[in-house]
Formats: sequence, structure tokens, C-alpha cells
Amino acid sequence: MIDLKMKAVLVVHGGAWAIPEELSKASVEGVQSAARQGFSVLKSGGCALDAVEVAVRAMEDNTAFDAGHGSVLNTDGEVELDALIMDGRTLASGAVSSVKNIANPVSLARAVMEKTDHVMLTGRGANLFAERVGVHTVPTETLVTEYERKEWEKPKKYMTGVKELFNSQWAHDTVGAVAVDCSGNVACATSTGGIRNKMVGRVGDSPVIGSGGYADNHSGAVSCTGHGESILKVTLARLILFHVEQGKEVSQAVEVSLRYMDERVQGGGGAIAVTPSGKWAINFTTERMAWAAVENDVLWYGLDPSDKFQEELQ
Ligand code: ASP
Repeated sequence: MIDLKMKAVLVVHGGAWAIPEELSKASVEGVQSAARQGFSVLKSGGCALDAVEVAVRAMEDNTAFDAGHGSVLNTDGEVELDALIMDGRTLASGAVSSVKNIANPVSLARAVMEKTDHVMLTGRGANLFAERVGVHTVPTETLVTEYERKEWEKPKKYMTGVKELFNSQWAHDTVGAVAVDCSGNVACATSTGGIRNKMVGRVGDSPVIGSGGYADNHSGAVSCTGHGESILKVTLARLILFHVEQGKEVSQAVEVSLRYMDERVQGGGGAIAVTPSGKWAINFTTERMAWAAVENDVLWYGLDPSDKFQEELQ
């Protein structure tokens, strides 16, 4: 174990929406476990970028969340995945959108960042790239749960009143992580199957740099969740960091930005953020958001708006 020079912090979310009781326990346990796994990278001297990838992969592998395994289906009953990752040291970014049959899109996004001259690959091109760099594909059925099949069979209403549906129980559980490591470097990652019954080819905020996430050592790192079209319109992640740059406390920056999105485009959502000095914030305007954070060997977590539980890490 190394002596941390600066305070390392890792925060994760498991999606902002009206999480039903039957999914609440699995969601909270899932974010707690992801936060522990991500923080252990920081604690052993790893960088923020590795920590957010580990945390997001843990949630992509967990069928409680709409990312990787457990993803929602589009109108054609297919899984199309979006993800981004960003390194606050250099603003290096990688993203994939509308990619199919990939269990860990966040790692494919990282490969785009590290092995191409581009920032985002989409659809067929992203899948061809996965093949080229040896990222295995998995059959669609392995990514889809029985719960999702049943929900998808219910009347399909995505194109009518999506915002109302979003705040009811029709969308779920994008995952994300932000971290600052012991050198003061920040990173973010976000991964999602999107919104149930989305049109084929629909891409939301999650893989879009500045909307679904952003990381800059000069201000902080953010990962967003919520109604993607609303998040895109207000470029939520950058908006939050803009307020930090203007001198707001990070918690205030998240709060005013979510309020702005609600008032300006009537969109609900949530965000997690961390600054290079180790301040962190979580907030959401939906009914619930599963989140967890580790700081000074204490695990914080919650689900309902007033929750802030804590336990010592073993
Ligand atoms: N933001 C995601 C999207 O619109 C959904 C979510 O966060 O639940 O694709």
C-alpha cells in the first residue's frame, strides 16, 4: 500500500430514474461493489483513468444496470450500446456509439482513445474496430435479461411523451464513474444501453464528450445520467464544469445545472462530479439514483434524495 500524496476519491452512479423496489437492493449493492473495485485501483497507486474503467466494467458486468449485460432493447428488439471515457490530464477521449454485441463498451471506448486518431466510432465501424483490436463479441441474448424482455413486451411508447415515461419506469440505469487519483489527475467514464424502445440508431448523451461526461484536470470530472436528449441540449457535463470554473462549489455547480436542465428543457437526470482537490458531489432530479463514493476509506452511498449512508471500508 502506498501513502496517498493527495486525497484519492472515486464516485459512481447506476442511473437516475424511478428505480422500482424490486431493483433497488441490486442497484445499491452494485454501485457499492463498483466503487470498492474502482477505489482499490486508486489505493494501490493506480491512475484515475484505470479506476473509472474498472468501476464501469463492474457495472457493465452486473445485470442490474442498463449497460453491457442488462441493457435495454430498441424498437427492433436489438441492443445498441454507447460509452465514453476521458482523461483529464490531456483531454484524450474515446467513445463508441450504437455498437452491438460488446460486453464492455467502456473498454472499447478506451481502445478508440488509445489506438486510433479519432474520438468516436459508431455502429458497424465500431464493431469492425473491435474485431481488429481483438475485443470479443458476445451473442445479443447474453446481454439481455428476462426482466428486460418482459418490460420491452409492454406497450411501446418511446416516441410519445418520452419525458413523462422517463420519469416513470421506462428508462433505466446508465452507469458512470469519476475519479481523482493521488496525483490530482481526474477521469470520467459513462456507459449505457440507452432508453428502452429508442429508435434504431438513436444515440443519447452518454458517448458524447461534454454531455454524458467530461474530464479536465483544470476543473474536474463529471458523468451524467438521465433523459439523453435533454442532457445533449444543455451539454450537461460541460455546463457543470463551467460553473466550477466560474467559482461555484462543485455541489452547487451540479445543483444549478440540473435545475437549469429541468427549467429550460423540462428534462430529469443526475450527475456525479469530482474536483482535482478531491471535492465531490452527487445530485439528481429524478425520483432515485443509485450512487456510491469512496473517500478516506469510507464508503458513502444512497438511493433516495435524502440518503447519505456511510460505512468503513474493510
Ligand atoms: N442518458 C441515457 C440515454 O439517454 C439514459 C440514462 O441515463 O438512463 O441514453
